[in-house]
Amino acid sequence: MTSATPTGDPDYDVVVVGSGAGGLSTAIAAAHHGASVLVLEKADVCGGATAWSGGWMWAPRNMFARADGVDEPRGLPRTYLEHRLGDNFDAPKVDALLDGAPEMVEFFETKTALQFVPGAGIADIHGDTPAPVPGTAPSGLGR
Ligand SMILES: Cc1cc2nc3c(=O)[nH]c(=O)nc-3n(C[C@H](O)[C@H](O)[C@H](O)COP(=O)(O)OP(=O)(O)OC[C@H]3O[C@@H](n4cnc5c(N)ncnc54)[C@H](O)[C@@H]3O)c2cc1C
Repeated sequence: MTSATPTGDPDYDVVVVGSGAGGLSTAIAAAHHGASVLVLEKADVCGGATAWSGGWMWAPRNMFARADGVDEPRGLPRTYLEHRLGDNFDAPKVDALLDGAPEMVEFFETKTALQFVPGAGIADIHGDTPAPVPGTAPSGLGR
């Protein structure tokens, strides 16, 4: 990665530290809404652990899942997370995920160059948890 020292106007609306999925998602969303953004990365490559990841993400109630017939009421993934997380269940964070995940997927799919591969066909590796999604949507992959 090219090392760059910001030039010109040193003032930014948003300064993001780290260029993983969390940081770059923040940067893209902020820029989309008109903010000037600076991303700082300490490594000599961009992408963090995200660059190594398998790239699958669990985003309950997203537009692709619904299109594939997985139209869960909000309470189902919440129940699932209550059982999976146990004492680590943090209601405000979980509710933020359940509210924001569908909006996030739709934002990146419709407003940016990032395009997703639907994943409703993927089996749940914790399928014995209450309120799992079986992952049987026929058109889930390879669309
Ligand atoms: C092999 C592998 C496969 C995976 N597959 C999946 C998957 O399929 N699905 C899934 O959901 N998750 C997967 N994960 C986990 C997932 O990749 C991570 O949870 C996710 O990428 C973390 O993103 P992040 O933005 O929080 O952090 P990171 O991607 O780690 O980004 C943090 C960035 O911040 C930088 N940074 C840290 N401190 C500073 C500082 N002081 N100044 C400047 N920069 C700094 C780091 O160098 C790094 O670039 C996988 C992980 C691995 C390793």
